[in-house]
Amino acid sequence: MNPFTYHHGELHAEDTPLAAIAQQVGTPFYCYAQEALEERYRRLAAACAESGTKIAYAVKANGNLAVIATFARLGAGADIVSGGELQRALAAGVPADRIVFSGVGKTTAEIDMALEHGVGQLNVESEDELADISRVAASRGTQAPIALRVNPDVAAGGHDKISTGRKTDKFGVAFDRAAELYARAAADTHLAPRGLAIHIGSQIHDISAFETAIDRLVVLRGHIRDAGHAVPHLDLGGGLGVAYDGGEDMPPAPYGGLLARVAAETGAELTIEPGRWLVAGAGLLVGQVLATKDAGDRRFVIVDAAMNDLIRPALYEASHPVWPVKKPPENAATDVITLAGPVCESTDVLARDVALSGVGTGDLVAIGMAGAYGAVLSSGYNGRRLVPEVMVRGRDFTVVRRRPTYEESMALDSLPEWMAGPDGAERGVA
Ligand SMILES: *Cc1c(COP(=O)(O)O)cnc(C)c1O
Repeated sequence: MNPFTYHHGELHAEDTPLAAIAQQVGTPFYCYAQEALEERYRRLAAACAESGTKIAYAVKANGNLAVIATFARLGAGADIVSGGELQRALAAGVPADRIVFSGVGKTTAEIDMALEHGVGQLNVESEDELADISRVAASRGTQAPIALRVNPDVAAGGHDKISTGRKTDKFGVAFDRAAELYARAAADTHLAPRGLAIHIGSQIHDISAFETAIDRLVVLRGHIRDAGHAVPHLDLGGGLGVAYDGGEDMPPAPYGGLLARVAAETGAELTIEPGRWLVAGAGLLVGQVLATKDAGDRRFVIVDAAMNDLIRPALYEASHPVWPVKKPPENAATDVITLAGPVCESTDVLARDVALSGVGTGDLVAIGMAGAYGAVLSSGYNGRRLVPEVMVRGRDFTVVRRRPTYEESMALDSLPEWMAGPDGAERGVA
């Protein structure tokens, strides 16, 4: 289900015209379609039903409280990678015992916070971290539920920069060290090892990559069990791919079939950690055209959205679809344009060589497939205010993160004490 369609010549999010949101909120803004979020979650949950696999939504794909809460109300847990994401997941109503704390480096304070709130599982990514978690659990007089994230040495993922499961990547503990570390954890009174975890990358379309990695994990589980340790839980990570080119997202059914096979063969409880698949297609970024111009043989459309709002094209060479908010007449000439933002960087290009007809100064354009790794990666570069986020439900919409005022954008800055007041001038720093 595509929540963004034209009615009466106007692009809508569900039943709400995007132009109406722009008029009230201003541009640029992110827009999420809540019924689409729910529909995607339900489809994946249906594929997971046979295996009883639990879904822990990867908060880093879109950490807006309203988005997390939408999934939490449908029964999702959360996969988090920082103390900040822990606070967000809890604030959005995710029960602590359904939270998985992933991430390649956790501070002592973050581990302590996780244990204080009783998260369900900490995924351990190194020997040092295993020792840290044990120490923090000891200081709290408790036992930390952990899983060992192993690196299965499988190359997967849509781009070199989003592959995580090769042995040269920084993630996980080396496969051949895992059994020994698991035994060490089992012998530690402050650690309760409950399973193994993998996450091999993002934007994966080829189910055989998942299959290869999971099969290796199952073999490792066998070795660890042979050594006398229980491994009741397998956490199979996220990474389900979506189509940025108008094609099909990874279909959940074959993946669900794989999970069912693994559950049947191992009897283990399974968890997956999808992020992108649940949110990408349910969100878009809307900007307004500031200018159009020709440079060399290129036609540029300059919009008020920029790389600080959506960095994926600059960071990963990602491509996103672009749609005019007002449907062009059937006979309009198609321009091949480059959509660029106002930021002072040549990489501030949101879409290269895309077909866009009938768009001029003042018109609105929507950048599609922007629900994942969009607003969460935004910054205030060039003194730009953080982009607001809007949630649509049918005919209703509401701002779920407002645009800060300029004062708020500067509120965390301060002058050094020695520059304040008349003294500063005397010392020549004013
Ligand atoms: C990023 C991440 C995910 C989610 O990945 P998607 O590609 O968004 O599904 C899941 N688990 C871990 C450990 C991650 O780092």
